Amino acid sequence: SFTGENFASRMKALLPAHVFKMIEDIGAIADSEKVAVYLVGGMVRDLLLGLPNVDLDLVVEGNGIAFGTKLAKELTGRIYCHEKFGTANLFLNNGLKIDIATARTEYYEFPAALPTVENGSLKQDLYRRDFTINAMAIGLNHHNWGQLIDFFCGCSDLRRKLIRILYNLSFVEDPTRIIRSIRFEKRYDFTIEEDTLRFAQKAIEQNFLERVSANRLKEEFVLILKEKNMIAIFKRLKEMDIWSRILPELELTPGILHFLEHVTEDSSQLTSLLGPVDPGLLTLLLLCHQADEKRVAANIERFQWSKKYNLVLMKTAHEKKKIHAMLQGKDVPISKIDLLFRDLSNETILYFYIVSPDPEQKKIINYLRLRKERIPVVSGKDLKMLGIKPGPVYREILEMLRTARLDGIVQSRAEEISLIKNYLTKEEML
Ligand code: ATP
Repeated sequence: SFTGENFASRMKALLPAHVFKMIEDIGAIADSEKVAVYLVGGMVRDLLLGLPNVDLDLVVEGNGIAFGTKLAKELTGRIYCHEKFGTANLFLNNGLKIDIATARTEYYEFPAALPTVENGSLKQDLYRRDFTINAMAIGLNHHNWGQLIDFFCGCSDLRRKLIRILYNLSFVEDPTRIIRSIRFEKRYDFTIEEDTLRFAQKAIEQNFLERVSANRLKEEFVLILKEKNMIAIFKRLKEMDIWSRILPELELTPGILHFLEHVTEDSSQLTSLLGPVDPGLLTLLLLCHQADEKRVAANIERFQWSKKYNLVLMKTAHEKKKIHAMLQGKDVPISKIDLLFRDLSNETILYFYIVSPDPEQKKIINYLRLRKERIPVVSGKDLKMLGIKPGPVYREILEMLRTARLDGIVQSRAEEISLIKNYLTKEEML
């Protein structure tokens, strides 16, 4: 049992020394500023689970923004305040992040609206949170240092591995919590508590998710992309009839699930040839596999992923047919593959690799290998030394060399130079 246990020693054991020291400092600053400060949310939950987590979430009984400003000064970092909500985000110079909230109550004017803020206490602040396991606090002031504060039996739910909302209207007030419940369920291998699940199902049936802004849905989805059990979360979203409500454009087919499940083994051969790949972007590319350009465009329009994501998703959808046709062709010169592939992101190339049958996969690997090996040795500088007048012709020559190299037409410096000379005499004759 956790009850009565003081968590100071547990924090010390689990957290990196500099994080623990900082929490001690925060407690001391809270005392000197005469405000009550609590560690809340995910870090408390993970401490109890014995998992390291360094994202600090603080609740201040008093002026959260003033306290945040003081912390930013003492711990050295930048602060971003949201006066209207009494919240602040601290980005410390040591790389750590601290979220600060002012203890408050919230009421919702209508479902899925932004919360309206009033003053209140810790208990009320915790009550408006998503689940009991996320609604515990640890005292940081001298008098309650390390003490667990658990108004809603979060500890007991943690032990019983249950995701439970705090009040019946929770999902109505904030339907994104439905998505969050699944994320935590699959992350910790917990179960959504029976009543909570029923309330979720009811809110889903009554189309409450449709009231959430695209941006908030996107934010929750991006969090899922970072989860280790992402695929299990996807499956559960589909099973609970949520998927089509949040991503109507991108159907989650068994085929796509199969690709997602085999990403790691499929890509192992490619990673050394390709370089870094953003797994979130790769997942999105795979999710777009069955969608035509129009659907991908509609999804991008609604969600506005990052600039890079939008570009890559659109380009891939646009070139899909052409690339598959090219890969299926017989005796396609490497330079032809290069023409289409040279501007593709690593994620797109890996995507095509994953969804292609074996012979095409071999072509992609072969291309990537040759692209690394067959690089012209003659450079712009050399062209100058050869006495060629700088101008657009440089680009033409270098491009020609790249093509000739890739296709194995030239294999040495001497051959490159004779190719250039040949090319120039032809030019002159025209
Ligand atoms: P993670 O480990 O994924 O960061 P977390 O619990 O820290 O999980 P955050 O999204 O960082 O999650 O949120 C911090 C805390 O804020 C949560 O623990 C929870 O108490 C509260 N919270 C976040 N989102 C909501 C929400 N939609 N409704 C109510 N409370 C929320």
